[in-house]
Amino acid sequence: MERMQRTSVVIIGAGPSGSVASAILKQHDIDCVILERSTFPRFSIGESLLPACMESLKKANMFEAVNQGGFQFKNGAAFRYQNQYTHFDFTQKYSDGEGTTFQVPRGPFDKLLADEAQKQGVPIRYQHTVTQVDVERDKPCLTVTDEVGVEYHIEADFILDASGYGRVLPRLLHLEQPSGLPPRIALFTHVTDNITPELASELNYDRNKITIYVHPDNQSVWYWLIPFTHGRCSVGVVGSPEFFEDYPQDEIAALKQLTREEPHLKLLFRDAEFCHMSGKIGGYSANVKHLATDNYALLGNAGEFLDPVFSSGVTIAMKSAEMAAETLIRKFNGEQVDWQKEYAEPLMVGVNTFRAYVEGWYDSRFQDVVFYENANPEIKKKISSILAGYAWDTTNPYVASPEKRLKTLAELCRNG
Ligand code: FAD
Repeated sequence: MERMQRTSVVIIGAGPSGSVASAILKQHDIDCVILERSTFPRFSIGESLLPACMESLKKANMFEAVNQGGFQFKNGAAFRYQNQYTHFDFTQKYSDGEGTTFQVPRGPFDKLLADEAQKQGVPIRYQHTVTQVDVERDKPCLTVTDEVGVEYHIEADFILDASGYGRVLPRLLHLEQPSGLPPRIALFTHVTDNITPELASELNYDRNKITIYVHPDNQSVWYWLIPFTHGRCSVGVVGSPEFFEDYPQDEIAALKQLTREEPHLKLLFRDAEFCHMSGKIGGYSANVKHLATDNYALLGNAGEFLDPVFSSGVTIAMKSAEMAAETLIRKFNGEQVDWQKEYAEPLMVGVNTFRAYVEGWYDSRFQDVVFYENANPEIKKKISSILAGYAWDTTNPYVASPEKRLKTLAELCRNG
């Protein structure tokens, strides 16, 4: 392999943002190569998709493949707190676009997207790790270690950093900034749930929805229950580091105790078999000084990551991929592009919408809205749109002014 190589666009990482961006670029005959540190399939957290990401998959020509992928159908989100239950049906939403999606083990899902990108002609170099970057030169250049440990350099017109939690450019270029959100920890595992149709019906449990449980004694702690096919599901708990101090060090033991503390989950999991694999991830909320310059852009989690509560991560990752690819297409067509105005600012519209509702979730204003019993159907559709991932649709007033609208709505719900 040449020690000094050249291409138009180098993409770091073959997760959803990298695969989607590469496919859109390839459709416009822009040469790109993906450098991926792992081999696929590999585990990743982030298993519940939002319908809005199906729109990005259409642009990447991956929609059909995902529809045929045999994943668990999803049409909404259910919420439980003590004896309260509510749900949002994503087909009942204000914005145009798909109203259903899937819940996916990320190993096979990310591999499917990467394979689709390869079928469209994108070269993916697995086990190639980016170790250094030089963006001071005329053309940015990466230092890469290949699968046998040999180092080489690759120069490009533009770099897309889709490295997720690897956060390659933010780390190497010292772009990282503290997140405004307090540190939280997520503890998770996969379970053979043994939830029979009879039990599901008895307990009013809908497998076509993600269920978010609020801890009965602590409103800032929540659980996800993400069903997959074949009777498996993902379960996780998110709370402050202090909250977990009172639970066993053994992650599976802690998760078993926590699931028994939630009355509905306790019944639902009466025959569940926990697997031995568990994970713990903390300090995942992250921010950066800027999202793009004239020679690189940060996609998905390599840029900003907020919080998992509304399953927005993959949707933001794919939307950023779509927006960056479209901006690059204009650049390669000879147009003058302003990355701040044409990429970073439009992307932040959706990120900031989610941020308002995430903050509202933890200070309980949005929980009051979610569990409000006499919801106005038109308002509910607008909230459903955001929960379905249509957080860039500024014709929705709850997107156009999320903070102001949420404040008013929460007050109305609190006062009945
Ligand atoms: P990734 O999917 O992380 O892919 C990045 C790729 O880059 C990886 O394959 C990695 O191997 C590669 N890479 C890293 N470093 C290098 C390097 N140096 N060189 C080469 N390659 C490299 N999102 C949802 O949508 N739904 C959810 O239900 C959800 N739940 C979550 C729960 C928790 C607890 C957390 C923390 C997050 C959750 N997320 C969820 C967010 C989701 O995990 C991410 O937003 C999503 O995976 C981002 O995709 P990506 O393409 O940006 O990066």
